[in-house]
Amino acid sequence: MSAIILDGRSVAKAIRSALRAEIAALPRPPHLAVVQVAGDAASDRYVRSIRSMCEEVGAVFVSRALPGDIAQAALEATLAALSADASIDGIILQLPLPVGLHADAAIAQIDPHKDVDGVTPQSAGLLMLGQPGLRPNTPAGGMALLKHYTIPIAGRRAVVVGRSPIVGRPMALLLLHEHATVTIAHSRTPNLAAIVREAEIVIAAVGKPGLITADMIQPGATVIDFGINVAASGTIVGDVDYAGVVAIAGAITPVPGGTGPMTNAMLLQNLIEAAK
Ligand code: NDP
Repeated sequence: MSAIILDGRSVAKAIRSALRAEIAALPRPPHLAVVQVAGDAASDRYVRSIRSMCEEVGAVFVSRALPGDIAQAALEATLAALSADASIDGIILQLPLPVGLHADAAIAQIDPHKDVDGVTPQSAGLLMLGQPGLRPNTPAGGMALLKHYTIPIAGRRAVVVGRSPIVGRPMALLLLHEHATVTIAHSRTPNLAAIVREAEIVIAAVGKPGLITADMIQPGATVIDFGINVAASGTIVGDVDYAGVVAIAGAITPVPGGTGPMTNAMLLQNLIEAAK
């Protein structure tokens, strides 16, 4: 058996094209502000990718590049000003912040209605309660892929490996809202292999290359790999041993080209929702 490849790159492209039409129909283009403190190469690359995606779909990208020695109060004032600025529809604060700056206090200055990354406590609370709100983009992208390929979720056993507030934990909640029976595994979980083997849907959100191997996967399971890791060879790999698992799984996301492109598409979707 060979797995269906969940092609995030082409699904994301189709979503972006639909969103471009949606943006063209809005009274004014949505404005996305990206606050970046002392960017490094990886962060610069990500911000550039957001800028070009905004240009592609007709959204307006607003950059706030701040120096690494900025005071906490000045960072918070920047975010508060963007929150109060009626021309700005969405705000992203690039994380992690340099040592000495407090992310939680900074995030608290983001208007929840402009929280297109879904990182404020308000957004997290709405997700927890299952009420409408702006969801974190990465897990939202995973859910959109499952839905695009009509993978059944209700009543299925799902195991989410990883419990971070931006990927694993919200993914578990989104699956729960779609009526999966969800187990969350993490670094203190004993006998990970036996638990993952029970899953019809396996979610890897760890950041450890090759952690999920073929012997942990039940035949026909759907495998969503959020991991983005740089292998010793310099190539990007996921948390799943793709070469082994693709022969056993029913469906699998490749890395790259799986969940990554979906994250940015969901960001745009959130921006349009925020603008509306
Ligand atoms: P974090 O480091 O915040 O969280 C990692 C999680 O994995 C933690 O919950 C940790 O457990 C758990 N973990 C660590 N080691 C093990 C282990 N041996 N067995 C089981 N669980 C383990 O990472 P993120 O959630 O931010 O990111 C996860 C991955 O997703 C990374 O590779 C990241 O690059 C990628 N990513 C991908 C995105 C995309 O668009 N596809 C976007 C964002 C991130 P504990 O809580 O106990 O420490």
